[in-house]
Amino acid sequence: MIQENIKQVQKNIEQACCRAGREPQEVMLIAVSKHKPLSALEEAYQCGMRDFGENKVQELMEKAEVLPKDIRWHMIGHLQRNKVKYIVDKVYLIHSVDSIRLAEEISKEALKKNVTVDILVEVNVAEEETKFGSTMEEASELVSQIAALSGIQVKGLMTIAPFVENPEENRKYFSKLKQLAVDIENKNIDNVSMRVLSMGMTGDYEVAVEEGASYVRVGTGIFGERDYKKIF
Ligand SMILES: *Cc1c(COP(=O)(O)O)cnc(C)c1O
Repeated sequence: MIQENIKQVQKNIEQACCRAGREPQEVMLIAVSKHKPLSALEEAYQCGMRDFGENKVQELMEKAEVLPKDIRWHMIGHLQRNKVKYIVDKVYLIHSVDSIRLAEEISKEALKKNVTVDILVEVNVAEEETKFGSTMEEASELVSQIAALSGIQVKGLMTIAPFVENPEENRKYFSKLKQLAVDIENKNIDNVSMRVLSMGMTGDYEVAVEEGASYVRVGTGIFGERDYKKIF
């Protein structure tokens, strides 16, 4: 089941790339494995998946401990400052940096462990009250502030679009994030790249790819529905 799902999602990504005149290699699929058991992750690994997304520090750490070391772990959930120290040297990319205080903590812990942490700035493009993320207006300033810190490198932007029935409704948010990345890139801020755009989930990743996503984060579309009562 997981194998067929991955093949289907990859095929959909390729077709979306084709529609948009993009190369499929420009888009990386992240398997969002939160609340899923190790056996499910192992199965996805056997199918060639190496990028996994988790939204809780504890769960990410426990999984990283026992699964193959060549997995790239993506922290995609809201990150509390007191948990940063556990993951700075275990994650490949933190997608959810939304404040200077969180970035300062990441910088501090990165320097302690002598690593450089790649991050994305999360932007609440749709301005949903329930979501974390910087506003569109503040994003550029936040990026410049983070760029001045050592041990941390801004690679791009991330957004979580609203939950909608029709993915076309989210197209405007994806295109706004892309435009924002272009605007920030044009400021040529030292130490900042805007190459990575993390946007699109099970319900809307094809539209996100058409609008320029470089990472799509797909959970349900690969692993099936989540049971939130189970930890993993
Ligand atoms: C859970 C989650 C996803 C995956 O959601 P699906 O709809 O299951 O694909 C993607 N991004 C973030 C930030 C998430 O928390």
